[in-house]
Amino acid sequence: MNKPIEFRIDQPLYQKLHQHLFPGDGDEHGAVIAAGIVETSRGIRLLAREVFLAPDGIDYVPGTRGYRALTAKFVAEISGYCAEHNLCYFAVHCHGGRNEVCFSADDIASHERGYPALLDITRGGPVGALVFAKNAVAGDIWTPSGRFQLDHMTVIGSHIRRLYPAPQPRLCAANPMYDRHARLFGDVGQEIFANLKVGIIGLGGGGSLINEWLSHLGVGHIIDEAIAHLLVDADFLFLAADSMQSRLVFNALVHQYLIPGIQIGAKVAVDKQTRQVGDIFTATRPVLPYAYGGCLHCHELIPAGRLQQEALSEEERRTQRYVEDEDIAQPSVITLNVKSAEQAVNDFMMMFTGLYQPEVQLCHQLRFARERSIINVERRANDDCLDCSSSSRSRRARGDRYRLPCRMPIA
Ligand SMILES: [Zn+2]
Ligand SMILES: [Zn+2]
Repeated sequence: MNKPIEFRIDQPLYQKLHQHLFPGDGDEHGAVIAAGIVETSRGIRLLAREVFLAPDGIDYVPGTRGYRALTAKFVAEISGYCAEHNLCYFAVHCHGGRNEVCFSADDIASHERGYPALLDITRGGPVGALVFAKNAVAGDIWTPSGRFQLDHMTVIGSHIRRLYPAPQPRLCAANPMYDRHARLFGDVGQEIFANLKVGIIGLGGGGSLINEWLSHLGVGHIIDEAIAHLLVDADFLFLAADSMQSRLVFNALVHQYLIPGIQIGAKVAVDKQTRQVGDIFTATRPVLPYAYGGCLHCHELIPAGRLQQEALSEEERRTQRYVEDEDIAQPSVITLNVKSAEQAVNDFMMMFTGLYQPEVQLCHQLRFARERSIINVERRANDDCLDCSSSSRSRRARGDRYRLPCRMPIA
């Protein structure tokens, strides 16, 4: 029962919360996070889906027992919302300080008064509280089977970083086997890689390169699984398979479980009649789990027609002459595979070690071999996207309490 509990939140949502908690007045402020949940053998992950800020003096007011508290009305409204939408309720406030934080005796007493009832209201929750300092977070998590401390929070953006209740002791010096990487990324970077679970979907030309490079980096668990459900607690996903169905499932995994990922591919267009070679390009497409994060749906990279076409049998396809994409060949040119895979693994390393400059935008990148040019694709998002938006029907951050679009296993 001592599985670690992790809270995952995307960078835009974390920023919104952080600005509310730390406006520069040094005072306490409050909010609520509504979260999805995923539970596996590796532990429990809570997935921040929405943040409800509690305006000072209206919903966050001087308390009768503690310093300040959320009003009963605010708690009732948001916990009711969570129960209705099958989400978990977490009250949030801040303390002073930078790198260390813990609950006060007043905080703990108020949890003990309030959370047993809240567990009932939200039909088993979990429910609980988070308390933030500028660079730290602690959590008191209540579940039907007991009460647990939050292990850490992961913030997912172009820098994937962790927040703890207090600075972490350095575990050990890096394994000398990875010494040259350790010199670049430091022992801490090496430790980060060693504890990651990375999923590679598709082990063809590009995927096998990624697999090899990740093992050189000392990434702890590399899995190439045909069953999407084994990927729900991964820390990162690479999509190197070419089917539309695999894109559909990858995009769902990224958004439903808040797992950052990158899709790679290479294409050579050949004219059907003349057999002339057209564009030759490689693609590296980071997908982060929020609006404008690179969602494959919003970039029109999972067209419904192509999905339908894949669902047809060989026979059906012949009779329907549904062959709009026959003139595109997947090249077996190793250098093209290297180009898309190399940028993807580089992005992965830079994101986890925090080495990208803060202003870097992780746009989809296309490299055109014949023009020798690189194009950054402008980011797109649809307000009502069922994957990346926060519309009431979207799958974003819902975790186990939502269905994955798995008609068939990933090819
Ligand atoms: Zn407090
Ligand atoms: Zn989208």
